[in-house]
Amino acid sequence: MATVDRVVCEDCKVRIGSMVARGVVPPVVNELLTKPRRVVTAALPIRHDDGTVRTYNAFRVLYSDARGPGKGGIRFHPEVDEEEVKVLAFLMALKCALVDIPFGGAKGGVQVDPSRLSKGELERLSRAYVRAMLPVLGPRTDIPAPDVNTNEEVMGWMVDEYAFLTGRHEPAAFTGKPLSLGGSQGRREATGWGGAFVLAAYLQYTQKRDIAGLRVAIQGFGNVGSHIAEKLAQMGARVVALSDASCALYREEGLDVPALIAAKREKGSLSCVADGAAQRIPHEALLELDVDVLVPAALAHQIHEGNAQEVRAPIILEMANDPVSPEADAMLAQRGITIIPDILANAGGVVVSYFEWIQNHENRYWTFNEVMEALQAKLQEVTRALLDRCWKEREQCPLRAIAYELAIERILAAERARGHIA
Ligand code: GLU
Repeated sequence: MATVDRVVCEDCKVRIGSMVARGVVPPVVNELLTKPRRVVTAALPIRHDDGTVRTYNAFRVLYSDARGPGKGGIRFHPEVDEEEVKVLAFLMALKCALVDIPFGGAKGGVQVDPSRLSKGELERLSRAYVRAMLPVLGPRTDIPAPDVNTNEEVMGWMVDEYAFLTGRHEPAAFTGKPLSLGGSQGRREATGWGGAFVLAAYLQYTQKRDIAGLRVAIQGFGNVGSHIAEKLAQMGARVVALSDASCALYREEGLDVPALIAAKREKGSLSCVADGAAQRIPHEALLELDVDVLVPAALAHQIHEGNAQEVRAPIILEMANDPVSPEADAMLAQRGITIIPDILANAGGVVVSYFEWIQNHENRYWTFNEVMEALQAKLQEVTRALLDRCWKEREQCPLRAIAYELAIERILAAERARGHIA
């Protein structure tokens, strides 16, 4: 009888398999990187305010610990499942290796729609997650951070629960914490601003141009989408379109980003009337706009087989994790569209998480400017190194493939140093 290997990450296997087939990474990668090192699943029973109880499925996946402890966010979303968390943990392992910070890769998730929970229920869920995962968490084991639908407040509850259970205040066990609990200046801005720094470095290197005057469309207006919109507008770009789940807005002269951020803060979602001069457009239309840069900053696979042909932007900056499906990726490559891959574009978040972890260990805290200068320098260096490798070594430069290659080489070097491979 054929048995299914439940540990394997099927999607990761496909991505790695194609690289092995092309001969760009050695076959041993098939053995070492198709299975996460550890997968923990749990059911979290939560008492609701009305007295009923429900259990929520929860996951924590440590994909690789070759280069250091696990690192990666925890998301709360109704569509979270084990395979998705594995893929996201795999991407974290590649991301940390690509930007060369001393972490492996991990990810967590709870299958829940947090918009249906009260604040108290959300807090109980966050604490229950830490109770269930305690044996596999810690500053030298696996360090969570915020991700989709989780934030500083959630990290604060988790830090507190961890301290309660272990009897130790251990700020370095979580990143993306509130400042009052050892969080870092700039962590909130880090992913969005980091994307702007990567784009600036890319344009400078490839076209000797800067961000000023660039026409940009951004899908998603959460922590990542709003901060990249803010930074790109500050750098002189025209943000012509923006969307969140509630609506999509377009204005050829550029949207008033600060006003929209203020409206979002007040109302909880993008207000379609906040910028009177803007026009409301269908959600799908945003992805098809004739702009210089398209920025998917929402959820996975928003650009797929069904709409990839309609994308008109020559550059896609992947601020969400995995926003372009593998089928769409191939279609876009054929049409000569450049994709700046997620593991580079959105790495600003985990880079500042690393800075936060250092600050927690040293007990010395950096200013906002120190954090941003270090972030910008890091992302410039990584972007240039990747482009150097791309442009010097081959005529065509599929950035995602080169980024994966570089990251996998670094993971293999650590596996070799540990004696796991010859
Ligand atoms: N959730 C973010 C990501 O996907 C940040 C992870 C972290 O800081 O550990 O990269």
